[in-house]
Amino acid sequence: MIAVMRTEEPRPVRLQDYRPPDWLIDTVDLDVSLDPHATTVRAKLKLSPNGAGPPAPLVLDGEDLKLTSLALDGAPLLEASYVATPDRLTIAQPPQRSFTLEIETLVDPTNNTQLMGLYRAGSTFCTQCEAEGFRRITYFLDRPDVMAVYTTRIEADKNEAPVLLANGNLIAQGDVPGTARHFAIWRDPFPKPSYLFALVGGRLACVADTFTTMSGRSVALRIYVEPGKEDRCAYAMDSLKRAMRWDEETFGREYDLDIFMIVAVSAFNMGAMENKGLNIFNDKYVLASPASATDTDYASIEAVIAHEYFHNWTGDRITCRDWFQLCLKEGLTVFRDQEFSADQRSRAVERISDVRGLRSHQFVEDAGPLAHPVRPEIYHEINNFYTSTVYEKGAEVVRMIRALIGPELFRKGMDLYFARHDGEAATVEQFVQCFADASGRDFFPQFMRWYSQSGTPEVKVAAHYDAAARTYRLDMSQSIPPTPGQPTKQPMVIPLAIGLVGPDGADQPLVLDGRPLEHDVVVLRQPAQSFIFSEITQRPIPSLNRGFSAPIKLSVPIAPDDLRFLAAHDADPFNRWQVLQMLAMTLLTGNVHALRQSKPTRDDEGLLAALGAILADRRLEPAFIALTLAPPTESDIAREIGHDVDPDAVFAARRALRAAIGRAHHAALAETYGQMKDPGPYSPDAASAGRRALKNACLDLLAISGADGAIARAAAQYDTADNMTDRMAALETLAAHDRSERAAALDDFYRRYAGDPLIIDKWLALQATIPEPATLARVRALTAHPAFSMANPNRVRALIGAFAQGNHTQFNRADGAGYDFVADIVLELDPKNPQVAARLMGAFRSWRALEPQRRQRAVTTLRRVADAPALSRDVHDIVARILAEN
Ligand SMILES: [Zn+2]
Repeated sequence: MIAVMRTEEPRPVRLQDYRPPDWLIDTVDLDVSLDPHATTVRAKLKLSPNGAGPPAPLVLDGEDLKLTSLALDGAPLLEASYVATPDRLTIAQPPQRSFTLEIETLVDPTNNTQLMGLYRAGSTFCTQCEAEGFRRITYFLDRPDVMAVYTTRIEADKNEAPVLLANGNLIAQGDVPGTARHFAIWRDPFPKPSYLFALVGGRLACVADTFTTMSGRSVALRIYVEPGKEDRCAYAMDSLKRAMRWDEETFGREYDLDIFMIVAVSAFNMGAMENKGLNIFNDKYVLASPASATDTDYASIEAVIAHEYFHNWTGDRITCRDWFQLCLKEGLTVFRDQEFSADQRSRAVERISDVRGLRSHQFVEDAGPLAHPVRPEIYHEINNFYTSTVYEKGAEVVRMIRALIGPELFRKGMDLYFARHDGEAATVEQFVQCFADASGRDFFPQFMRWYSQSGTPEVKVAAHYDAAARTYRLDMSQSIPPTPGQPTKQPMVIPLAIGLVGPDGADQPLVLDGRPLEHDVVVLRQPAQSFIFSEITQRPIPSLNRGFSAPIKLSVPIAPDDLRFLAAHDADPFNRWQVLQMLAMTLLTGNVHALRQSKPTRDDEGLLAALGAILADRRLEPAFIALTLAPPTESDIAREIGHDVDPDAVFAARRALRAAIGRAHHAALAETYGQMKDPGPYSPDAASAGRRALKNACLDLLAISGADGAIARAAAQYDTADNMTDRMAALETLAAHDRSERAAALDDFYRRYAGDPLIIDKWLALQATIPEPATLARVRALTAHPAFSMANPNRVRALIGAFAQGNHTQFNRADGAGYDFVADIVLELDPKNPQVAARLMGAFRSWRALEPQRRQRAVTTLRRVADAPALSRDVHDIVARILAEN
């Protein structure tokens, strides 16, 4: 029903059409009487005209709403004076002055399967309003530039919902006389847009702590979870306190309310949500114990807790003017959480992990039909723009500003942004202007192209050393491939951190145009540009784009010997990792080509030797070594090849390289495996996690090389592990080998953890990613397993999402059965939860790059989905863009 109505109203929204709202809402008094099927929402809105424009009708957004009462300034409105549909409330001739509108609506939280607006996660009442969920609670000007002060009264059955929470500070609570109900009143003094509204009601346990801010105020900290899970909150609480301190020390940002609350819920479309003072989390990003969570889970919890907390300033205090500005809060806040993790852990390791993720997701997105600018200019469904481009590339753009002007001026610009725009709904232009004003640099108008042009820039470099003149010249050119809607591009401002590495391995001084090079960064602004360094006494090897200072594809002709020299000597750890990735990528793409032609593949002894040297270097961080031993991902290799991709050949070439690493360094891997074992109790700290990462990388490489006893070693680690990281790593290794130990371990894992959905998600995902033809039947069978539920996004992502996004050979089966399976699931899920269905559909985004047979299978399936009746706006938008011709 709802899906049909949503499709019948296609409504492209364009950035250029933005105009300020005709009406503002100053205060919102909400009175929500919780009931599983008939929750009454009474909203009292204080409205006023925005400026002195011509008389304007009042049009409030709604979705799936039932109006039960409407009054203006206390008097019921005549039916002739308004029109109420489930999607809109229109008052054609409202008074052209401030007035009060009282709206009563009825909503059904239990049957809200979209998990937007007010819904139930298990028995808990909770809300999700970003981007446009508040209109499913009451009629409203549901847009981020309408900021109001909210007072929220919640009432519920005392037994059903003993805990009642909303944004802000608690100002009153008590029983409702003569009933079994009680109430709580919360007031949030900070004006906020409706997408940041939240309330929670349920039977929840609470873990409490306090934090003293830099000005000496005491803030109550609360984490609410399902009863019985209190012992899994310690790491989340610790992460929160470290994040609060870090934001004070790094950006001078102090928390502002008396209380900060996190509620973990089991059914959630996203990762977590930064509602003012009341963050609501997917429980996956809160709950952790050594026995239930891996090191990766711990790191994610730390990052997501910090991310949502940091939004208090970048998102809540300063919000977005409209949804086109989503990167203003997301890109900036991802940048902040990445910096937090880098400071808490290892800067080099965090940077490499982030870039690996960027290449595997954002670069792939940028190279396909779903490519869009960091700030899109048009959307049909904003839910489809919570993308890697907006988040991760958005963070890279902020990082480039810092690279261009240096850390001191960057901090000055951030301070100016907070001072100038606190309490406002801002734009990307306003954000960037703060750095232009703080630095006085002239390149910011051109820099704005990073927000408007999609596609990954390609920079080509040629180098020339003149021994007589003692100069070293870098000739650079830039281009951006065409992307949907953008056939031609303008040159970008590209900051390239640089080092010129001498024969002794040391960096030579950088003198450009007679002056020391500022921040060791050259700035490429022209389509082609040369940089001549003087006083270079020996032929250097260029180390370019250090720390991945710009999110570009770089091609620079460096001989393999020189790359290996950099791998051993570059002062920049990121580039030590990067050059080995380059060598591996060259080998892998060559071998994929050879496999397609049924020609012999080759080995790269030099690469293997360089990896051996890294493995043997005990001065290096174990986590860094583990990352270095991992070749580029399958999606990264496929993107590099670009067209006529055969995922089976990509997988085979990558697997062969991993086996070759295992065979070449068998003894060192076995020795390292032993050395990295920690005798003591489990600790989630980064150094311990790094040792486990290296140990488990060794285990896996030994197994894939076919080494004697490697499977037995993995089985033994599985049995004796005293933490989830080691048990899960052993299970992953076993899962990659079709041996009896695999079935035994998978059965055992299910028996051990059957009562714990978050752990069983790992079991589902692991089976979905086994790269074997039998996997599709296994996944199909698991959809009927009692542990699986289409109603829970975490289960869907674990099983179906892992298959579609994480199993390149089996999703892309040559017979098309993987495509059909995922399409069937999408169509089944779409009427219930279009957001999650659309996400799954994104797995098809690289179909055009495939070899012809798979491409044909994919397009047949895509057309079948596109032609399905009653498609949601979310899925329709994704399929239409994936199929579009340009
Ligand atoms: Zn965010």
